[in-house]
Amino acid sequence: MRTDSFALRHIGPRESELKEMLQTIGVDSLEQLIYETIPDDIRLKSPLNLPVALSENQYAEHIGKLSAKNKVFKSYIGLGYHQAILPAVIQRNILENPGWYTAYTPYQAEIAQGRLEALLNFQTMVSDLTGMEIANASLLDESTAAAEAMALLHAVRDRKQKKENINKFFVSEETLPQTISLLSTRADFLGIELVIGEHKNFDFSSDFFGVLLQYPGKFGEVHNYSSFIANCKEAEIKVAVAADILSLVKLQAPGELGVDVVVGTTQRFGIPLGYGGPHAAYFATKEEYKRNLPGRIIGVTKDVDGNNALRMALQTREQHIKRDKATSNICTAQVLLAVMAGMYAVYHGPEGLQYIADTVHYSATNLSAELVKLGFEQVNSVYFDTIQVKAKAEAVKKIAEENEINFYYPDTETVSIAINEATSLEDVNDIIAVFAKVAGKEAEPLKELLQNTVIPTEIQRKKEFLTHEVFNSYRSETELMRYIKKLERKDLSLNHSMISLGSCTMKLNAASEMLPLSNPQWGNIHPFAPVEQAEGYQVVLKRLEEYLTEITGFSATSLQPNSGAQGEYAGLMVIRAYQESRGEGHRDICLIPSSAHGTNPASAVMAGMKVIVTKASENGNIDVEDLREKAIKHKDNLAALMVTYPSTHGVFESAIKEITDIIHDNGGQVYMDGANMNAQVGLTNPGAIGADVCHLNLHKTFAIPHGGGGPGVGPICVAEQLKPFLPGNPVIKTGGEKAIGAISSAPWGSALVCLISYGYIRMLGTKGIRKATEYAILNANYLKERLNEHYKTLYSGERGRAAHEMIIDCRPFKVNGIEVTDIAKRLIDYGFHAPTVSFPVAGTVMIEPTESESKAELDRFCEALISIRKEIGETSAEDENNVLKNAPHTLQMLTSDEWNLPYNREKAAYPLEYVRENKFWPSVRRVDEAFGDRNLMCTCPPTEEYAEA
Ligand SMILES: *Cc1c(COP(=O)(O)O)cnc(C)c1O
Repeated sequence: MRTDSFALRHIGPRESELKEMLQTIGVDSLEQLIYETIPDDIRLKSPLNLPVALSENQYAEHIGKLSAKNKVFKSYIGLGYHQAILPAVIQRNILENPGWYTAYTPYQAEIAQGRLEALLNFQTMVSDLTGMEIANASLLDESTAAAEAMALLHAVRDRKQKKENINKFFVSEETLPQTISLLSTRADFLGIELVIGEHKNFDFSSDFFGVLLQYPGKFGEVHNYSSFIANCKEAEIKVAVAADILSLVKLQAPGELGVDVVVGTTQRFGIPLGYGGPHAAYFATKEEYKRNLPGRIIGVTKDVDGNNALRMALQTREQHIKRDKATSNICTAQVLLAVMAGMYAVYHGPEGLQYIADTVHYSATNLSAELVKLGFEQVNSVYFDTIQVKAKAEAVKKIAEENEINFYYPDTETVSIAINEATSLEDVNDIIAVFAKVAGKEAEPLKELLQNTVIPTEIQRKKEFLTHEVFNSYRSETELMRYIKKLERKDLSLNHSMISLGSCTMKLNAASEMLPLSNPQWGNIHPFAPVEQAEGYQVVLKRLEEYLTEITGFSATSLQPNSGAQGEYAGLMVIRAYQESRGEGHRDICLIPSSAHGTNPASAVMAGMKVIVTKASENGNIDVEDLREKAIKHKDNLAALMVTYPSTHGVFESAIKEITDIIHDNGGQVYMDGANMNAQVGLTNPGAIGADVCHLNLHKTFAIPHGGGGPGVGPICVAEQLKPFLPGNPVIKTGGEKAIGAISSAPWGSALVCLISYGYIRMLGTKGIRKATEYAILNANYLKERLNEHYKTLYSGERGRAAHEMIIDCRPFKVNGIEVTDIAKRLIDYGFHAPTVSFPVAGTVMIEPTESESKAELDRFCEALISIRKEIGETSAEDENNVLKNAPHTLQMLTSDEWNLPYNREKAAYPLEYVRENKFWPSVRRVDEAFGDRNLMCTCPPTEEYAEA
């Protein structure tokens, strides 16, 4: 046996356990199980054409060689991306720490207080710097955040504006090009007319509902917007500002000018460029718009003992849950990156950020002065970090690149230079030397930076920021390391136990896949660097596209979307562009089964489609006759069907080909939601079922960690006819020949984390990747059979099998007074994260073990659920005081001198033997959701509040 095979490490059960597991399931072989699970007519006949597996060591060598093909130049390109310094203490203790990166979205607040606090810090930091009342816990990137701002301002138009259909949105021409491209992609189907122009010439009397300004402008000029904003308010036009977060340390906060929304990226707070991402965008607004705010907000509440606790606020407000009433489809965001950026602020504090912003600014002013001395004209008068120099771009470029320096060249006569945190005095001198050479002169190197500012007093920041204790307490590495650890310990992640969240695929995120992310050869490449400098990336991204194309059975792939939901939107927009090209742009009906994930209808609405919900039959499958009827009825306008496969009920529906045929026969395209691709890889694929496009969640099936709610990558894979329309980028050419506009800021989305999926595929190879799927199905069916006597499983395939996940029904326990939430919280006492609660069926849990969990862990989980089932039997509807209702139990309550509960402490804390040696203590008791929503607080509470509680 080759013990260096990665599959051995990635897959949980041992070969020696296979027989017993198959016996429990009641099949003779894995082949038989797969035969009974996947319908015959869609099973692949031949193996995938992927490279053979590399061992972990071979992969390390391979990816190291590729990294050397990237040329890491000093980047002064700017345009929304700046080199930043990731403090090593954050790199080691968060980015490289599975305790942080393997967590899921904090659905179970009691075991997520650590990252909830880190996100509250992030929100507080954003609120402080922007001067706004409320901020969310991140969005995908600056451009999508700007689009969300536009959508929010459109949604909150007053009655009169709605009645008169005021639909024009003004965008300053100084806005980043990728943002303008993305806004025009989005605006079309929202019925918004974009007007792009110079803000100085804006006509306040005309019919606009909102404006977007860039602060500072894309080439660095800082305008005093105060009278412009005052005029907008006068004219009842709402204002959004895309602001550079570091510049806000020195510039007056937009919030002080009364704007409605501020957005931007927090990339330059310590996050590697990574050839475009992932980075956390921020979104801050006024409290009055809290119900329209896209993404997640963390809020303060109390637990049942009255202690302060955190949780996701206003969850029912979560946009995609509103389905076709949603104005945003955001689900996965950028939690890990937000945690890191927030921690950067904790590490540096106000004085550290001040020093960094000052140094950046002085470097820019000193550089400008020196270049003027050399005889160049510098165009910007008020600027923070970016100057524009008049010079022959071609001549400068040649010498700059010889010196491994990248500038940005807006035209043949202009050089734009954006200074960043990593720019040293030596770097400034290197830049001066480039221009001296161009001018044929000698330049005297600067010995120190003069503290010269060009920011007039009236727009300088005067208001204090980051005054909260958390930003002023952890300056030494020892202190910060312990603070990070303190938070980490409160969270249950994959390094403690299985997280069986159905539909989320919480599989192993292997260390070998993660290691390359720390390599600056991957980290320090600007997304708009000349493509020939990013050869390593180009090889990886192109191959990854090819592998995903092969795996899905399609023709092409775009890696641009930064989440599954963005993939959905991208895929639907590609369908629309294709239909438009055939003179069928009127097609706008989207059929969606009732069991679909909330992002499906939300994305369809954003793509300008009308959602028609199709019924589920008794056994949970799509009601084919209902679907047929609706497809025929709408055949003249049918755009698409969105279908999840295997279904969100965890079943391979055997009618799938009939379903896709019905859609094609009636003129529509089939969109497959690929969130459940972990049940398909190597065995069947979207091409085989007759779909035309799908998204994949690389953060589910392809091993990118969830990071506590992001990053994600949601590539779309398409059939031949859709290939020409894959999304483009306005700065770097990518996408199809007739590309739709940008879906994300960066040409290849979150390129850095694509390395993880690339590694996953290279190390598993053709055989391993198929085996992973088989074991995912094996593990799910093993659980199903083991739990069979104790819980009722809802839905299974025609031959009685689940796919890679399954639903167990908790509704019958209502007679015992037990709700599904009680079971979820009691599982915490047993050391487990709850499965997915109440999706897709209310009152149930959906369990997805993944292939990475061992038989021993599956057995422990089963024992826990079986023991809970017994406990349920001991309760009654009148009984409000039992071990389930009171769960989870904290160490504090168990060690208190007082104990008057009707069961003993041992039962509360150590209900099974295995719990004794690996106990996870929740840091708070059950949180009060309603209290927090009534008393919304989304920034760090004053310390006295904690003291009081
Ligand atoms: C996770 C999921 C999505 C959304 O993906 P994000 O990456 O969170 O945007 C869509 N559909 C299904 C079925 C999912 O499970």
